[in-house]
Amino acid sequence: MSASLAAEFYDAQRADADVGDAFTVPLADSPPADQTETVLRWATHDVWPQDADAETQREPLASRLAVAERQTGAVTQKLVADQGRETIRQAARVDRQAVGYARAAALGACSFCKLMASRGMVYKTAGTAGRDANDKFSGDASLAKFHDNCHCGIIPVFRGQRFELSAHAQEWDRLYREYAAPFPGDQLRRFRRAIAEHG
Ligand SMILES: [Zn+2]
Repeated sequence: MSASLAAEFYDAQRADADVGDAFTVPLADSPPADQTETVLRWATHDVWPQDADAETQREPLASRLAVAERQTGAVTQKLVADQGRETIRQAARVDRQAVGYARAAALGACSFCKLMASRGMVYKTAGTAGRDANDKFSGDASLAKFHDNCHCGIIPVFRGQRFELSAHAQEWDRLYREYAAPFPGDQLRRFRRAIAEHG
């Protein structure tokens, strides 16, 4: 469902861009079963009897269940949302009319997500990536890194379109440049502090 909704969104964005020629969005493959199993096992691990000495195992079952429920919700949200995000990213990669994509972060997003969103559009081809790439991160690996309960989305950008940062992302970019960029190795921490103090 998440991948299908993402495909509908992609189609609508593509229609708005008026780029012509037909394109069918390929849906992202489901996550491998062992990945799903691993994260769900992690989310519920304190519910099952294991090490009797483990501190968390001594909590009453009701509170362990509550933790398991919260964690299960979080990892499932990521599994589901990733399907949609991956569908858009893959489509942009194979669609000849797409030039790149950007990350959209919600206002309540964490500082990592805000930093990724303020990076703007990344070109899908490595050859042109350097032109607009700034020093935040290279490649798209970190642009496409999401955490549990992350509500960031991926926005495709098509030929003839010019991507512009939202007003909020422009402000995040300004804070990054002023407070974090001059400190390689410590940029995320500095950016987080700048967001807290000036954001
Ligand atoms: Zn996020």
